[in-house]
Amino acid sequence: MTDVNFRLTGTPACLVCNAPLPFHQARNNKLCGRIECDWRYSLLQKQNKLCKKCGRPLAIREQHFGVCAAPECQRAAIADRARQEHEQRERWYLALREKAERLRNQVMGDFGIRNAKSFRLAVIPASLSKITRLPAKRRREFRNYLKQLIDRVFAAPVPVVLNQDQNQTAPLADQEIRLQAASGQACACCQGSCCGGGAFTYAYLEAATLQRYRTAHPDQRSRKVLAAYMSYVGDETTQGSCVYHQADGCSLPRDMRSDICNNFYCGGLQDFRQNTPVTGPVRGFFIAATENTLHRAALVHEDHTLMIPVSSTDMD
Ligand code: SF4
Ligand code: SF4
Ligand SMILES: [Zn+2]
Ligand SMILES: [Zn+2]
Repeated sequence: MTDVNFRLTGTPACLVCNAPLPFHQARNNKLCGRIECDWRYSLLQKQNKLCKKCGRPLAIREQHFGVCAAPECQRAAIADRARQEHEQRERWYLALREKAERLRNQVMGDFGIRNAKSFRLAVIPASLSKITRLPAKRRREFRNYLKQLIDRVFAAPVPVVLNQDQNQTAPLADQEIRLQAASGQACACCQGSCCGGGAFTYAYLEAATLQRYRTAHPDQRSRKVLAAYMSYVGDETTQGSCVYHQADGCSLPRDMRSDICNNFYCGGLQDFRQNTPVTGPVRGFFIAATENTLHRAALVHEDHTLMIPVSSTDMD
């Protein structure tokens, strides 16, 4: 990027009066040297009316953004903003972990547990949405989507299962069972932040999900399948989230959920799972947070959870 102003003719020019500058002068100076230009430029500088990237005086519509419309300045400003936001998030994350560690040590002290670190710290998102009545329009839209999907699946021939064993999923290893139990408790602490996406993807249900269900229930006709899926849609739902997202979690049984719903773990939970020892009890201290605010905490030992009250001072 250059901070030399080029006129339309391609010759360097004074940033204020646009008078042409000899190349040797342009290398060291953006201005023509006239006192008026120097004075005007320093006034614009004091008023923050110069492009932060190239130093050109800003047009009125550019002043709010602090950068001129030149593509290289725009790109540099976007990169700056992204870097600042990333650094901000890093700072928040570190501060959150510090708060969480203090809270964990305090709770461990209260319970007389010596090895606080055996409950590994994990920061997960927090859903803050309230429970609300499911509007009739949303129920109708969801039913229509589901009906079309099921009709499409039933229009295709029943998939041939060559080998019954292929349909059976391998039993989970003991450690995976423990890990899943602890992950479920973590999701309960978060209250289903990732289920928000289910609102506009119809619970992530797709043909493959319904095909799987159909294979597992060959005796059910399409109407019965629709009724089965609709029977888990309650009168209430979490505001702005999936129709199955209820106060106590997902109301849809696991074998009816999409693969995405069954296999997705957010970054915090993935990190926890990947760093869990391959043997021994699965324990965690989960912190549900948004940006720099801690909302809920849970001490988890596999399928047991102790919700920890979070005071306003913990949230500061
Ligand atoms: S996977 Fe992560 S975001 Fe989704 S419910 Fe569980 S903790 Fe929350
Ligand atoms: S079906 Fe269940 S797990 Fe999937 S998005 Fe909806 S509430 Fe979440
Ligand atoms: Zn000038
Ligand atoms: Zn610029």
